[in-house]
Amino acid sequence: MSKNRYRNKAPYSTLHPDARHWTRKGNSWKQKVGYDTEGEAWEFLNQNPRLKAIGEKPYFCELCSRWHIGRLHK
Ligand SMILES: [Zn+2]
Repeated sequence: MSKNRYRNKAPYSTLHPDARHWTRKGNSWKQKVGYDTEGEAWEFLNQNPRLKAIGEKPYFCELCSRWHIGRLHK
């Protein structure tokens, strides 16, 4: 992995999509589920306490202007 010869064919954005909006599915990336309001996101979270327990919470996504659920890495 010394050089990336295919850089021109594989845009940086595809290799490293914004983690706020994309989620890893095996070898590919998938858009996160979006909610129109923070309330809707919380509703889903309250129905899935397991997610809440591991620290997932709603956050606003600037890429699609909707709410996603996840853990923000800081
Ligand atoms: Zn998004």
